[in-house]
Amino acid sequence: MKILLLSLFSIGALIAAEPAKPATDVQPGRRLEAPGLRAQFVIQSDRKATVTFADAAGKPVPRGDRIVVVKVDGKDVILEPHPNGFITKEPLQAKEPAAIVVQVRAAADAKPTNFRLTLNTALCGECKRQEYGCTCAH
Ligand SMILES: [Zn+2]
Repeated sequence: MKILLLSLFSIGALIAAEPAKPATDVQPGRRLEAPGLRAQFVIQSDRKATVTFADAAGKPVPRGDRIVVVKVDGKDVILEPHPNGFITKEPLQAKEPAAIVVQVRAAADAKPTNFRLTLNTALCGECKRQEYGCTCAH
């Protein structure tokens, strides 16, 4: 009985030592997820949009051979590569709300994965995130 109590105590101490995890995703923007793919789509304050690839923990990873196409209102947006992804050459000019499609390929000849979102930078009253990255259920 003494041993059991001792091990229960150790488990309790282990749990208490673990850092508190935030209940929600604190990264700005919209998370893009598919099997084998994780990226973060962010509209910066200068309205340039970035796509940054990340590992399972959300840490940025090198772009590698991945190819990204971004369409706003059906029109291709010019992208420039950065070490961990891509950034739009120009700020997004479209009038909000506008349809955005982010197409990601693992390599030039791979099947694309499409993510659809809405260009809407208004703040959501509930989660306080910009609507394009809103995490509420509405
Ligand atoms: Zn929200």
